[in-house]
Formats: sequence, C-alpha cells, structure tokens
Amino acid sequence: MTDDLAEEVSRDDNGTMPLTIASEDIDLILFDLDNTLYHRHDGLWAEIDKRILAYVCHALGLTPEEARIVQKRYWRQYGTTLMGLMCEHGLAPQPYLEYVHDFDVGRYLQPNPELAAVLAVLPQRKAVFTNATAKHARNVLSTLGILAYFERLIGVEEVGYIPKPQMAAYERCLALLDVPAHRCLFIEDSAVNLPPARALGMKTVLIGAETAGEADFYLERIEHIGRLFNLDPAPIS
Ligand SMILES: [Mg+2]
Repeated sequence: MTDDLAEEVSRDDNGTMPLTIASEDIDLILFDLDNTLYHRHDGLWAEIDKRILAYVCHALGLTPEEARIVQKRYWRQYGTTLMGLMCEHGLAPQPYLEYVHDFDVGRYLQPNPELAAVLAVLPQRKAVFTNATAKHARNVLSTLGILAYFERLIGVEEVGYIPKPQMAAYERCLALLDVPAHRCLFIEDSAVNLPPARALGMKTVLIGAETAGEADFYLERIEHIGRLFNLDPAPIS
C-alpha cells in the first residue's frame, strides 16, 4: 500500500485507527445507492431532485422557490422529502415514489466494468440500503452491470418508509439482512446518514469525500473500495 492510498482510506493520521479493514472482519457490505454506486456528476440525482421539486410544487400548490424551501426543511427534519409529505400532509408514498423515479436511468448511466471487477473479488455479502425504492435500485444496478453481485436491495418501502438517518430504518434493515451491525461495512455519500450506523456498531465509509469527517474511512470513488481491504486496484483493460 502506498502512502497515497493510506491517506485516502484512513480516518485520521494519529495512528489510532487501522488504515484498512481485515476482510474476515466483515460479513456484509451495505451500500447506499444514489451518488454512492454512481457518481454525483453523472446527472442522475439532478434529474431525481428536479422531479422531487416538481412533485412538491404540484402536491402542495407552491411555486418552485417556495417548494425548495419546504423541501429542504423536510430533508433536514425527516431525512427525506417524502417523509415530510407523509407526516405533514398525509400524502401516500407510492405516487410520489413512482413519479420521482419514472425515467430511463440509462440516459445518465453506463455499465461500469471497473466497479464490477472489484465487486467480483470482494467475498462479502452485498446489499443496497436506499431511501429510494428497490425498483429504482434494480434499474440503476442493472444499468451499471453490477446487479448480480447483490443479494438484496432494500428500499424505503421495505423499512416502513422510515428514511435514513432515522435509527429505526437501520435497525429494520439489519433485521431484514440478518447480520450483526459490527460485521457490517456501510458505504454512503451523505455524511448525515453515517452517525446512526456507527452508533449501532457498523464500520462506516464516506464516499466522494476528501476527508472522513465522522466516518471511519473515506474514498473519493466507489471503484476504490478494494483499497479498504488492501486489495490491488482492478486491472486496467
Ligand atoms: Mg446517496
């Protein structure tokens, strides 16, 4: 491992944290979906975000400017816009979830053989835990060419529409996967979603970041996940 790689994955530089994880210490790798298994600049999340705003405008009769303020408050207060719409307006979740994901993800994503190669050599179980739907997760993973590596896709509907970062969502997710938290590695781009996972005992990775913040580890790109386990990078084809 070079110094550069050590710098990328370690939580801090005071020598108290291991630079990598022993592969045998982890049974399951739990991945967030949006902006984690693909990159923020791919544009897919921007499309979802636009659709969320349009839905809030339509459902609450607001201008885009008003809707954005409401939406940001819901996100901070409840974890998702959907939970705010459900709690404060009694809206049903299904029409919202259908609308915000009703587009061809292939417009934004392409197969990612580099990611597929590294997932193929990691022996751990793999699952997705997303505030979106399992159907959306399936579309994304299928388009990226990595669906076969995942044993389960857990969408917000499977945890009673309770979103990350609410603790109950993580507890339900772990129960569905039947894995103890301390044997789990959780990978996520949204820093606010990491502390509950750490509190439960999961090892945490902040993705797309240049510092670890409150996570145990950080990576700039998901394709570098092998570095957490001190694996060589995937061969360049
Ligand atoms: Mg995300």
